[in-house]
Amino acid sequence: MSTEKGTISINTENIFPIIKKFLYSDNEIFLRELVSNAVDATQKIKKLSAMGKYEGELGELKIRVAVDKENKTITISDKGIGMTAEEVKKYINQIAFSGAKDFLEKYKDENDSNQIIGQFGLGFYSAYMVAKEVEIHTKSYQDAPAVKWVCDGTTEYEISDIEKAERGTDIILHIADDSEEFLEEFKIEQILEKYGKFLPVEIEFKDKVINNPNPIWVKPPSDLKDEDYLAFYKELYPYSEDPLFWIHLNVDYPFNLTGVLYFPKIKQDFQLSREKIQLYSRQVFITDDVKDIVPEFLQLLHGVIDSPDIPLNVSRSYLQADGNVKKINNHITKKVADKLAELFKSDRKAFEEKWESIGLFVKYGIVSDEKFYDRAKDFVLLKNTDGEFKTIEEYKTKIEALQKDKDENLVVLYTSDVEKQDSFIQGAKKRDYDILVLDDVLDSHFINTLEQKLEKLTFKRVDADALDKLIDKGLNSESVLSDKEKEKVTELFKELAGDNVVQIEALSAEDAPVSIVMPEFMRRYMDMSKLQGQNAMFGAMPQSYNLVVNGNSPVVAKMLRLKGDDRRKSYAKQLHDLALLSQGMLSGSKLTAFVNRTFEEMAE
Ligand code: ADP
Ligand code: MG
Repeated sequence: MSTEKGTISINTENIFPIIKKFLYSDNEIFLRELVSNAVDATQKIKKLSAMGKYEGELGELKIRVAVDKENKTITISDKGIGMTAEEVKKYINQIAFSGAKDFLEKYKDENDSNQIIGQFGLGFYSAYMVAKEVEIHTKSYQDAPAVKWVCDGTTEYEISDIEKAERGTDIILHIADDSEEFLEEFKIEQILEKYGKFLPVEIEFKDKVINNPNPIWVKPPSDLKDEDYLAFYKELYPYSEDPLFWIHLNVDYPFNLTGVLYFPKIKQDFQLSREKIQLYSRQVFITDDVKDIVPEFLQLLHGVIDSPDIPLNVSRSYLQADGNVKKINNHITKKVADKLAELFKSDRKAFEEKWESIGLFVKYGIVSDEKFYDRAKDFVLLKNTDGEFKTIEEYKTKIEALQKDKDENLVVLYTSDVEKQDSFIQGAKKRDYDILVLDDVLDSHFINTLEQKLEKLTFKRVDADALDKLIDKGLNSESVLSDKEKEKVTELFKELAGDNVVQIEALSAEDAPVSIVMPEFMRRYMDMSKLQGQNAMFGAMPQSYNLVVNGNSPVVAKMLRLKGDDRRKSYAKQLHDLALLSQGMLSGSKLTAFVNRTFEEMAE
């Protein structure tokens, strides 16, 4: 064949400036695309050989990438199937250009180029994001002359016969002036590391193989031991603590998905480190932003997902609507729930020990995903102040037995701060309450969800209301105070409590004489706003509370017996301050005054 010239049939004079413009933000993917093509070509020759359709030697199949800074070229060489002249014309000229045409047609009215996350069947042509001219030197595995194709980014190409001894393809990029950064070896190494770490064919750069062609997710789970999973975790995240456990995903119907998801150890003050799951397509790294593919609550997991069925070359909005993506999402959720259910069943003790970390995922899932709730409600654990764990059912059974009035809603007492609410916890424990510890960032949402889902269940923080009004209805006798005494008590405290409500309750003699509680709804409202970062608004709002006076307390009785209004008033003030103090609400000059007054009284 002599040199042949042709024109690529396309309406646009020059497509490359357009490709460049659309793909600009991510121009390093040219290397991913060209290396992927080299991998595909290598896999094809292996397959043909395995099927007996190619009888020649396979030889060494490494793919080589080389940078020539002087001549300003990057070369990607493979020993794959190669192409005949006809194939070059068909696959490079026609097919790729029809892809380019589709691309243009689809996006000609689109001004938001950022929506396009990848290429558009334009793999090969992404070379023009960095190259002003591209050469293909290729020799097919079939008995045909080697050919050279050259195109400088206009619609003109040139194709001619050349001498090439070995089967395979070299892609030579003549790097454009504005892309010379890609002539730095470290840059190329970095890009190869990022996209090619687990490519299935060995990739050599600077005489070194840069990839692990057999990552564990492509192996059958039955061939793998715990050590393998742990070693792979270390390979992915060199400086991390060992994960708690993992899930090996392996689906081939109705979509293809493999991968390993790890549950990391999480500290109580968990940082939302997303971007720890890497998405691959046939072992080619695509992204670590899996927002649309993995349910939000599972983005805290680590690991790898590999699926050729996730469309990678279309806009985000399309991705969200994609049927496969939805199915994958559901599948992952289901798998995670299955794994947790299995762990819970097979070794509850270990499950409880890991609850601090697991609980966070589970609660996050429960508050954000209906389907997950349906499965997780059987293994979500509630921890009480004695460090015991119960499932929702177990806990309900226990408090049902304690509850006097079976028709009333079940009241669940919880603490959000074991230290600060200690006096209330002690008081409630004396009455045999089982108090839950719900003290992490998600718990206010978690409580809301449980209340919505579970009938007859009301959560109250342990300092939310006078205890005896909750479930021990009628347990205590009437207040020993007479109506006149009640009036007196109210008058004394009203002055101190200002706009806050003063309520007299018939608690037991051992309970605190005076305590401060906040209505549950109010406190929760404030917690929620805090979580949503609306501090500014509520910070300015004075905290309103109820001052509960225990009508059965001997201390209150003593106050009433004191002679003289002044003495009674100062006694009431001392009680009020103590109540504020135990809720951490006494500070500054008020605290100083309280301390000084107490010293003075002790000296008397
Ligand atoms: P895709 O890889 O999605 O098919 P590309 O634009 O990346 O699209 O490549 C177009 C076609 O060119 C490929 O399908 C393949 O037939 C051919 N091709 C590209 N690179 C090579 C290569 N290194 N060896 C053999 N064939 C190749
Ligand atoms: Mg390709």
